[in-house]
Amino acid sequence: MRIFKEPEDLKEQCRAWRAQGQSLALAPTMGYYHAGHKALISKARQLGDRLVVSLFVNPAQFGPGEDLAAYPRDFAGDCAIAEELGADALFAPTPEAMYSQRHATWVEAPELAKGLCGASRPAHFRGVCTVVLKLLMLTGADFAVFGEKDWQQLAIIRRMAADLNLPIQIESVPIVREADGLALSSRNVYLTERERAQASGIRAGLLAAKELARAGEKDASALKAATLSLWREKMPDARPDYLEIVHPETLAPLARLDGPGLMACAVYLGRARLIDNITLAEE
Ligand code: AMP
Repeated sequence: MRIFKEPEDLKEQCRAWRAQGQSLALAPTMGYYHAGHKALISKARQLGDRLVVSLFVNPAQFGPGEDLAAYPRDFAGDCAIAEELGADALFAPTPEAMYSQRHATWVEAPELAKGLCGASRPAHFRGVCTVVLKLLMLTGADFAVFGEKDWQQLAIIRRMAADLNLPIQIESVPIVREADGLALSSRNVYLTERERAQASGIRAGLLAAKELARAGEKDASALKAATLSLWREKMPDARPDYLEIVHPETLAPLARLDGPGLMACAVYLGRARLIDNITLAEE
């Protein structure tokens, strides 16, 4: 596995691979790998002849007062995992290499980015779209893989790829969870023992809504009330950021579950802000 720090060096290597007729898959990450990242990287490995893993804690997607400086990092450990999973290249640029002082171009999908996580992280998806488009341009990847845990991100990237006619196939991996249901996240290290014990309540609350939906409940307020009540019981220390039922592609909020519906949430627990989602109805 070759490690690239300079965007131009990665670009040259990818161009050479493509010139040999090889297809490329990209697995974009911010590092501190857990089993969710491993699933993502393994899926990308299967898709392309060559696999590029990017490891970049993208400052542009963090807001003021967020955890950019504290974000957990383990470069040596991540390199070992990427290599073990068959990466041909690991791209780990510095922020300065990715964003020149004169950087002035941003990509955004405001309609999809205004709700859910975008409501409390207003510049987040603009940072995500911009860095993902830069990674796609640098690599010329044929495939890129994103996790369903960050559902809004996945929906926005799919929209961006379609709207801008990007020559890429976007793929996804299902959410990888701990045995008690907590979605794996690099940010789970922020949890104290007490908070970690409560954190499985997030998934339990979403499952309560899913059960109710299965039993025929269609009213979004009633479904959300079931989740919130379970959260109050299981997670006394938690502070919900949002809990919404939305259309899985347009992300438009739904008052009733008459077609496809996804319940998505973010919850503050101590220093951590944890996100999760569940499909309530497929159609
Ligand atoms: P991150 O390093 O947190 O930016 O995550 C990199 C990619 O891995 C994103 O596309 C995430 O959605 C995905 N990912 C993170 N955690 C999980 C998980 N528990 N299950 C599946 N995918 C995940």
